[in-house]
Amino acid sequence: MQTGKIDVTTENIFPIIKKFLYSEHEIFLRELISNAIDATQKLKTLASLNEYKGELGDLTIRVAIDKKKKTLTVTDRGIGMTDEEITKYINQIAFSSAEEFLEKYKNQENAIIGHFGLGFYSSFMVSDKVEIFTRSYLEDAKSIKWTCEGTPEYTLEEIEKEGRGTDVILHLDKDSKEFLEEAKIEEILKKYCRYLPVEIAFGKEKEWKDDKYIETEKDHIINDTKPLWTRKPVDVKDEDYKTFYRDLYPGQEEPLFNIHLNVDYPFHLTGILYFPRIKRNIEIQKNKIQLYCNQVYVTDSVEGIVPEFLTLLHGVLDSPDIPLNVSRSYLQGDPNVKKISGHIMKKVADRLEEIFKKDRKEFEKKWDDVSLFIKYGMLTEEKFFERAQKFALFKNTEGESFTFEEYEKLIKDNQTDKHKMLIYLYATSREDQYSYIEKARSRGYDVLLMDGQLDTHFLNHLEQKFKDARFTRVDADVIDKLILKEERTESKLTEKQREDLTPVFQGLLPDKDKFFITYENLSETDNPLTITQSEFIRRMKDMSELSGAPNLYAGMGDAFNVVVNTNHPLILKVNEAKDKAVGKKVDDINNELKPFNEELSKFEDQHKDKKAEEIPTAEKDRKEELNKQIGKLEEKKNKVLADYGKKNKIVKQLIDLALLSNNMLKGEGLIKFVNRSIDLIK
Ligand code: ADP
Repeated sequence: MQTGKIDVTTENIFPIIKKFLYSEHEIFLRELISNAIDATQKLKTLASLNEYKGELGDLTIRVAIDKKKKTLTVTDRGIGMTDEEITKYINQIAFSSAEEFLEKYKNQENAIIGHFGLGFYSSFMVSDKVEIFTRSYLEDAKSIKWTCEGTPEYTLEEIEKEGRGTDVILHLDKDSKEFLEEAKIEEILKKYCRYLPVEIAFGKEKEWKDDKYIETEKDHIINDTKPLWTRKPVDVKDEDYKTFYRDLYPGQEEPLFNIHLNVDYPFHLTGILYFPRIKRNIEIQKNKIQLYCNQVYVTDSVEGIVPEFLTLLHGVLDSPDIPLNVSRSYLQGDPNVKKISGHIMKKVADRLEEIFKKDRKEFEKKWDDVSLFIKYGMLTEEKFFERAQKFALFKNTEGESFTFEEYEKLIKDNQTDKHKMLIYLYATSREDQYSYIEKARSRGYDVLLMDGQLDTHFLNHLEQKFKDARFTRVDADVIDKLILKEERTESKLTEKQREDLTPVFQGLLPDKDKFFITYENLSETDNPLTITQSEFIRRMKDMSELSGAPNLYAGMGDAFNVVVNTNHPLILKVNEAKDKAVGKKVDDINNELKPFNEELSKFEDQHKDKKAEEIPTAEKDRKEELNKQIGKLEEKKNKVLADYGKKNKIVKQLIDLALLSNNMLKGEGLIKFVNRSIDLIK
């Protein structure tokens, strides 16, 4: 028997190992199995090079627990180790690299700790004592046993051992009893070892017999040694992809598309990505992609490795070229990782384009589900935008789909305004904006449906990308002004008549700080009153809401224009009726106003070029007095007009109809409208 001291400078490395990665203690098993896999693969390589001429035999790696002895054993039939190798790999190199690793990362929160690097010594996170029984594949190799009890001292002795390979026996400490539970080990194996390339047996298969489970002779193999992504895409059928997806994500709906990645140059990358089917408005789950390194599970957090928008996809990526035991910020700056990321994005775009070209019908059907990914990608990755504009779709309110190019052609003739701007009309709800959509369509305009979660951002983005184009919601203005063409018609109302009509309508609106009366010279077949909301203000509000600052435009966002059609017969009728009813009163007030106004404008003229201190005080006082008088009279006039409006059934009806077609007539107002309408047709 030989004893010795492990080559380590930090005396207290064991307590550190024990504490380290507290939440990820379970990775010791992955580390041990990885070593067993390596040892097995090395043997296979030697055999294929004819450097090992013996029998390979059964290479299955076995994991066993012994509850009584409180041990967990990992057994392999790989190359094994000679005593020199044990001394070199386990006592010197492995230990010092574990030490170095701990030194480097113990203070670094962001490190992808525990992924790789701690290796064999991670077994001390869960054990009081570790034994290695090993025999090298080399002829005449001696079998040896290495023991270490969690201190820098170890012992090495010669033993009798049947056959080649290594058993690592962990004597689990009192805090690690959970690893004696079959279910726990099964869970860990499933998580980390599910796709490892050498068969791993954990106990025997069980069979239901005579009302109970009994063990069969057959090994219970926990892994699939040739997972789908390692196969050549040409050999894989559609159904296989679906089966694999179900395997990865039990209970999930079938995915929309898959993308099989298989890259050899300039880096190695394989994998299968799926576009999941997502339900609208349901929080999208990120981090469903699993990252593997030579079939060893590493993590399901792939941020920094794939472009942000692709983290919404599902599937697996496997690359030995992604540095795994480094921090995330390092990953993001790593040129290799950037290349990988760019390549994945390109592949995804290529595949989508291929599907689009091959089967456009199918693509259109799935568009609603994939559009979120594609739009997100187009918004966040310039390169992806370039590629995706070939297959990204616009959908109009009739459910028809167009590529960007097709759509531009469709609307170019009819929707270019007099400033040569191409106006894309859109609606955010087919129901709510129905009357506006109909109006636009009756003009021969086409209306896009932009009701997706990202559409506000998306159309802002498109406006920057498209040349000489603008997006305008159908209710942003009256139909004549949505797309400005030639000069508009004459007005049948004079400036003065408009001024007098304003209070007539204003008085009946629900909130005079929210609704502003404006006049447009529309055709007499257009609606008498229309409620619109400025595109600019509405979009500012939408954007600030999306960015989480809803208060910035809160007041502004709810401002609406009530557009009065100066040529509609009903408006002219209201004007006449108003003249008849209160014209005299209004004229009287106007007459009273006249001298005041004249005097005031005389002063204004005189004072035009004077500074405030040059104006005599008496004149200033008189002006103030005049303004007060004028204000009072104006108020009186407005009241007369507003009171009149409140009595005029047509005015009431017109306003309610405008509110109604904008979904704004509710509660009491709605009931009153219904009752008034019944009265009117009685
Ligand atoms: P790593 O696996 O990262 O090299 P480890 O600390 O896990 O680091 O292992 C150190 C070395 O010990 C390995 O590189 C290998 O040479 C040897 N080793 C560990 N486990 C085994 C095993 N089961 N069979 C043969 N050699 C092993």
